[in-house]
Amino acid sequence: MGAPTAWHAARSGASVVAIGVPEPADITQHHGLFGAWHDASRLVWQRHAHPTDTEFTARAIENIRTLENEGADPILTEVGFLFAAAPGRDEGMLPPPEDYPGITALGPGELASQFEYLAFDEGVTGYTEDPPSGYMSPRDVVGAFLASAQTSGVEVVADQVMSIDVRTDHVVLQTLAGRSFAARRAVLATGAFSNTTEFLPRPLALRRKSETALMAELDLDRNPSLRHMPIFVYQLDHDLVADIYMVPPMVYPNGRTMMKFGANTHHDSYLDSASVEHWYRQGNSDAVIPDMRSAFRQLFPGVEVSEWHGVRCVITRTPHGRPYIDTLVDGRLYCAIGGNGHSAKWSGAIGELTATLALTNEWRDTVIPREHHRAQYSDEPQTWTTRDLLG
Ligand SMILES: Cc1cc2nc3c(=O)[nH]c(=O)nc-3n(C[C@H](O)[C@H](O)[C@H](O)COP(=O)(O)OP(=O)(O)OC[C@H]3O[C@@H](n4cnc5c(N)ncnc54)[C@H](O)[C@@H]3O)c2cc1C
Repeated sequence: MGAPTAWHAARSGASVVAIGVPEPADITQHHGLFGAWHDASRLVWQRHAHPTDTEFTARAIENIRTLENEGADPILTEVGFLFAAAPGRDEGMLPPPEDYPGITALGPGELASQFEYLAFDEGVTGYTEDPPSGYMSPRDVVGAFLASAQTSGVEVVADQVMSIDVRTDHVVLQTLAGRSFAARRAVLATGAFSNTTEFLPRPLALRRKSETALMAELDLDRNPSLRHMPIFVYQLDHDLVADIYMVPPMVYPNGRTMMKFGANTHHDSYLDSASVEHWYRQGNSDAVIPDMRSAFRQLFPGVEVSEWHGVRCVITRTPHGRPYIDTLVDGRLYCAIGGNGHSAKWSGAIGELTATLALTNEWRDTVIPREHHRAQYSDEPQTWTTRDLLG
């Protein structure tokens, strides 16, 4: 969220410094901050149950097109989207998919005949969504926004901000490397580490959920039916896993071809400030493998997997399920925090709203309600509408 905020702010004419901790070369040896964007695949589907979420995705895809048109390597791999849900778990299908362009509703028979490699439970229905739905690398997205931002004059600094001193007419940031920056205003886009740093004036209401993705390593020549697999979300009825999301097989930076399989599981936990870093570095991500592997095998009975790998990450949730895009100190300090598992694909749209708010101190958008993105604080009562841990 920070990279596109810097990009939008610079394109609006502001003078911007973007300060961030780079991705560590070896996570097991890294003592410091991590980012949810340290990965190679994120799902991008367009239509959400709430129309403003659909609008968010459309705007963000437009930003990606701008980056691509201005010279970035292609960002989106447009393989389409499949949504499927067990009876009673299909809230993501509302309103009826027939009303939407590019959406094709599928009954149980059609799901079985079009996706013969998937074994759905009885009564499961779904829909497909045409490209540009697909997947993208959050690493590439951050890289493309920052590279483009630099051509608009943004100074990109690889460092950690250790303190922010909010003064009457400016803020002063001190970094780990001993540098000091004075600015009229600052935006915090600090992800899962937002409440762990000393500079947040009032801790935000955030839940940092441990997230493990199961990577199924396979040979596409032995599993040719997966060559045309779309991205896939499945609201299944299962005792051990829920809310499955999948990225079709692709070659990861380590040269291995893997299919990504994410879900909520009984092994997930909320991480306190002190344990986020430890989880990223050496959490027991292998604990989820048996449950997820069993769900995977049930769903893909004929797929041959050579190796399984667990990948650790953190989902930062807010009570209302949308990022906080808000003012923390009037005229000085702003935030874009709380990705809720959707903000890789939304990052361009989040960046635009954040940059506008920070530069003008006003919410100028007439489509996205400001209330959707209000910050909530840990010292006030909250109603959590986002999914809790599995029971
Ligand atoms: C396994 C997994 C799968 C996901 N799948 C999807 C998906 O399919 N689609 C989707 O849209 N989203 C997905 N997400 C969510 C998405 O990755 C996040 O919403 C998004 O990365 C959040 O962006 P962010 O900028 O808030 O935080 P981050 O990506 O965590 O970035 C925050 C950055 O701030 C830096 N930072 C923090 N504090 C400081 C400081 N004091 N000084 C300097 N730098 C600092 C951190 O080092 C980090 O680089 C997924 C997340 C996970 C974990």
